[in-house]
Amino acid sequence: MSEKLHPVPQEWATRAHVDAAKYDADYARSIQDPDGFWGEVGKRLNWITPFTKVKNVSYAPGNVSIKWYEDGALNVAANCVDRHLATRGDQVAILWEGDDPKDSKAITYRELHEQVCRFANALKSRGVKKGDRVTIYLPMIPEAAYAMLACARIGAVHSIVFGGFSPDSLASRIEGCASKVVITADEGLRGGRKVPLKANTDAAIAKVGGVDTVFVVTRTGADVAWTEGRDIRYEDAVAEASPEHEPEAMNAEDPLFILYTSGSTGQPKGVLHTTGGYLVYASYTHQLIFDYHDGDIYWCTADVGWVTGHSYIVYGPLANGATTLMFEGVPNYPSTSRFWEVVDKHKVNIFYTAPTAIRALMGGGEEPVKKTSRASLRLLGSVGEPINPEAWEWYYRVVGDSRCPIVDTWWQTETGGILITPLPGATDLKPGSATKPFFGVKPELVDAEGKVLEGAAEGNLVIADSWPGQMRTVYGDHKRFEDTYFSTYPNKYFTGDGCRRDADGYYWITGRVDDVINVSGHRMGTAEVESSLVAHEKVAEAAVVGYPHDVKGQGIYAYVTLNSGVEGDDALRKELVAWVRKDIGPIAAPDLIQFAPGLPKTRSGKIMRRILRKIAEDDFGALGDTSTLADPGVVEDLIDQRQNKA
Ligand code: ATP
Ligand code: MG
Repeated sequence: MSEKLHPVPQEWATRAHVDAAKYDADYARSIQDPDGFWGEVGKRLNWITPFTKVKNVSYAPGNVSIKWYEDGALNVAANCVDRHLATRGDQVAILWEGDDPKDSKAITYRELHEQVCRFANALKSRGVKKGDRVTIYLPMIPEAAYAMLACARIGAVHSIVFGGFSPDSLASRIEGCASKVVITADEGLRGGRKVPLKANTDAAIAKVGGVDTVFVVTRTGADVAWTEGRDIRYEDAVAEASPEHEPEAMNAEDPLFILYTSGSTGQPKGVLHTTGGYLVYASYTHQLIFDYHDGDIYWCTADVGWVTGHSYIVYGPLANGATTLMFEGVPNYPSTSRFWEVVDKHKVNIFYTAPTAIRALMGGGEEPVKKTSRASLRLLGSVGEPINPEAWEWYYRVVGDSRCPIVDTWWQTETGGILITPLPGATDLKPGSATKPFFGVKPELVDAEGKVLEGAAEGNLVIADSWPGQMRTVYGDHKRFEDTYFSTYPNKYFTGDGCRRDADGYYWITGRVDDVINVSGHRMGTAEVESSLVAHEKVAEAAVVGYPHDVKGQGIYAYVTLNSGVEGDDALRKELVAWVRKDIGPIAAPDLIQFAPGLPKTRSGKIMRRILRKIAEDDFGALGDTSTLADPGVVEDLIDQRQNKA
C-alpha cells in the first residue's frame, strides 16, 4: 500500500468549513454527546414542527429500532426548494447536460419550484397519496429530480430503478414495493444510443400487473405503444396542473424512499430511508465533505438510480441551495474527453465520480484530459469501490493537476450518506485510504469472533452506534434487516466490508469480507492484488478471486483487462506474475491469469466478483442473480476463455 502523504494545503486549511483542530474537537463531541451534537446540526433544516427528541436507537438483537428527531415534522421538498426561493430564486438549482454536447439547460430554484408543484398536483389528481409507493424509471433528465421531489412533497415513497435495468429487474422492483404508479420516458439516450424505457415498462407491467398509472416523459419523441386510461403524457399532466401546492407535513420517521442495493453480493435489498435524519445527514455531509460554498458548481457523475445520485445529486445539494449538475451521458461519448469538456463548459469546481470511470479513462492515456483546461476544478471525489493508489495518483496528477485534494468517500446504500472520508481542509491524504470517520460515526474493527481490535489492525468493519442517515429497515422485511446487519456482531451494524486501520488511525477498505482469500493459510484482501496488477503499465483493470487449489487451499485467479492496443499472451502473463511477486510477495502471485476485454459489472460500475468466482471455480452453471449486470454479454466470453477448464 502506498505510504505517500499529501498534507492539507495551507489555503484549504484556511478557507474550508472544517480544519484539523475543528475536526478533532467536533468529532470528539459528536461521539461523547450525540444528542447535543445532532440536535444542533438538525436545526440546519426548516421544521414544520420542531423536534424535541434527537436520538432513540436500539441495536439489541431481535429489537432493532432506529429513530432520529422522531417528534419533528418537515417536508423534504420544501427544504430542498421552497425555502431557497426568498434568497436564491433566480440561482440555478439544476444544471443539466444532455447526452449530446449541444443539449444543456439551466433550471433555477423558482423554475424547479413550479415544476415540482405542478407534478405533485398531477400525482394527486391520479389518486397518489401519502405513503403510496411510486416507481421512477427515468434517464438522467431534470424530470427525474422533479419526480423525486414531487413524491417527497406529497409524502409518496419513491423507488427509483436505474434506467439501464431490464424489464425483469423493473418488474421485480415494482412488485417488491407494490407500486401502482410508474414514471418513465418514451426512450432514454446514453452515448448516442436509445434505450426503450416505455417498451420495457410495458413489458414489466405485463409481467406483474397492479400498475394503474404510467406517466411518460417525452425525451426522444419516439412512437411508443399506448394504453389508454393508464398512460399519461407527462407534459400534458403538468400543463393542466396548478403551479401551487402546499407541502405535506411529514413525520421525521415517515419513509422518504426505497432503493435496492447494487446486488454485488447477492439478491438486491430494498433499503428504506426516512425523512428527517436522512436529509440532515445528506445535507450536512455534502456541505462539509465537498466543502460546498455559495456559488460553487458541483458535479456528481452518478446516476439517480443509485444512492449516490439520491444523496449527492439531488437531496444533499438541493437542501444546501447548491447548483448541482446532472449529466445524461457517459464518459466516453462523443469522446473520452467528455467529462473534462463538461467541466470546462460549466466551470465545475467540485467533481465526484467512481474509480471504475477513472480507471477506464486512465486506459486511454493523458492526452484526452490534458487537452482540456480544468482550471475551475478545486476538489475531486471518489466513491463506489476502493480506489487503488495508482488510479488515485493519476486522478490527482492528471485530472487535478496536483492541485485538488481528493475525498475518497466510503459508504453504502444502507448508510444514506458518507461515513468514512477525508475533510479537505482537515485531513492529510493517503492515496487509497478513505482516511477517517465523519462526525458521529464510530467505526470498529472486529475479528471473526467479534472481539474488538485496537490500534493498527485488520478485520471486519462494523459501526458501533447509529447516525441519522442510517437505513431503518428492509422494506417489508424487518427480519431480513436484523439478520443481514445486526446478527453477525450483536449490538453493532455490520457493513460486510473488510478494513485495515493503520498506526495513524486511517481506515483502508480492503473489499467485501466475502472476497477475502486464503492462500496457504495467509488471508489476503483481493483489493491489494488488484491494486498491484493495475499499477502495471499495460493493465487497465483487474479483478481477483480465489478458486479451489489442491496444494494451497485457495489459488489466486486474476481477470485482467489490458490497456487499449495491448495484446495478452503468455509472456505478458509471466511478466504480470513476476510483477505482483516483486510488489507484494510470492504469496500474492496469481496462479491463473485470464485476459478479459470486459468484466461483469453492476450498473453502478462495481465488479461482480461472485460471478467471477463461479467461473474461476469452473462452476458457471449456477451464476445466481445476474439481472443487475450492465452487460450480460461479457459473461459468455469469460466462460469461453476460462483458464481452469476441467
Ligand atoms: P449489495 O449490497 O447488494 O451486494 P453493493 O454493496 O455493491 O450491493 P452499494 O450500497 O451500492 O451496493 O455499495 C456499497 C459498497 O461499495 C460498500 O460496502 C463497499 O464495499 C463499496 N464502497 C463504496 N465506496 C467505497 C470506497 N470509497 N472505498 C471502498 N469501498 C467502497
Ligand atoms: Mg452492500
